[in-house]
Amino acid sequence: MSDESSKSRTLGDVYRCIYYDPQSTRNSIADELGLSLPTVTNYLNALMEDGLIHMAGSLDSTGGRKANVYNIVQTVRYAIGINISARHLSVVLIDLGVNIIDMARVRKNFEDSEEYYTTMAGMVETLLDTHNISRDLLLGVGIAMPTIFNSDQKTVYYAHVIRIDNNTFSRMASFIPYPILFCNDASAGGMAESRFFPRDKSMTYLSLCASVGGATLHNGEVMIGDFWRSSEFGHMRIHPDGKKCYCGQRGCLDAYCSEKILSSFTEENLGLFFEQLPQNPGFQFVFDEYLEHLALAVINLRMCYDLDIVIGGNVGSYMADHMDALRKKVIRLNPFEKNADFVKACHSKTEACAVGVAMHHINSFVNTIFQ
Ligand SMILES: [Zn+2]
Repeated sequence: MSDESSKSRTLGDVYRCIYYDPQSTRNSIADELGLSLPTVTNYLNALMEDGLIHMAGSLDSTGGRKANVYNIVQTVRYAIGINISARHLSVVLIDLGVNIIDMARVRKNFEDSEEYYTTMAGMVETLLDTHNISRDLLLGVGIAMPTIFNSDQKTVYYAHVIRIDNNTFSRMASFIPYPILFCNDASAGGMAESRFFPRDKSMTYLSLCASVGGATLHNGEVMIGDFWRSSEFGHMRIHPDGKKCYCGQRGCLDAYCSEKILSSFTEENLGLFFEQLPQNPGFQFVFDEYLEHLALAVINLRMCYDLDIVIGGNVGSYMADHMDALRKKVIRLNPFEKNADFVKACHSKTEACAVGVAMHHINSFVNTIFQ
């Protein structure tokens, strides 16, 4: 490696230190990367001149002298995430710090048509125009869908929730004049949740949306399996010969724990179900049964992975007030543990799938900057 490319790589490493640790100081960066303090100062100055980082405050250091804290400038790049489900279309605009700048959501049945993609592209442009985002700063657009992709991430292995074929992606891309990538929706949701976990902590994410899926994350990366079908928790069989699943099998988790089990009582408005739950004994009965099935899924996942199990997706975003009830049911099923603190409600509550798929563009920018 030449001297110049080695310096450039180190500059990228300094940037990544600051990106992943908002408490970064000159000393902490020097320790982490094994660099001298004057060398770190040079790199910090270069990053500040490029407008990529700024001084964000100071920390008390042990010597009494305050140490400057450096943060990334979050508005130097943006990404768009789109979540397509059978009946809804959502678009979010995020910045480099994964802050949601704005979002739009419409009720719209998916169809592989010009009209649908024109609406989708229009929502993207409207968000960008509303916030005067220069297209040069847009890293790209990610699209999350209830689809299992082949390892090329462009052809479909399985798509029963929405009707698409292998030409759908190029048709879709022809309406979006930016770098574009596709991702399974539950994997994207797991990616969005992963930023609330330490990077070296693994976790299992159970996505409870219109369909049920999941993701297992390690070092901030989604485990993909041999054939990109890892963590398809929706088709774990929790009741052999039970309710019919859309996949054709019986007793799959999806048939018991999709959000539709709850939102079907409130005209697909899941928020309304949870709003009325405290006053409605009928809803309480339905929800208690729902939690019984969910507890079965959780204990199976705990036995498989021995990791924190995060309840995510649309149902997960309403679970914070119901974790005690779920944990009690999980404890009864657990042969090893007398508490169930490992079951957690998700932190990423707003359009997690769209945010997560947009994060692929952000992560790729951060991981390759100056390389
Ligand atoms: Zn199934």
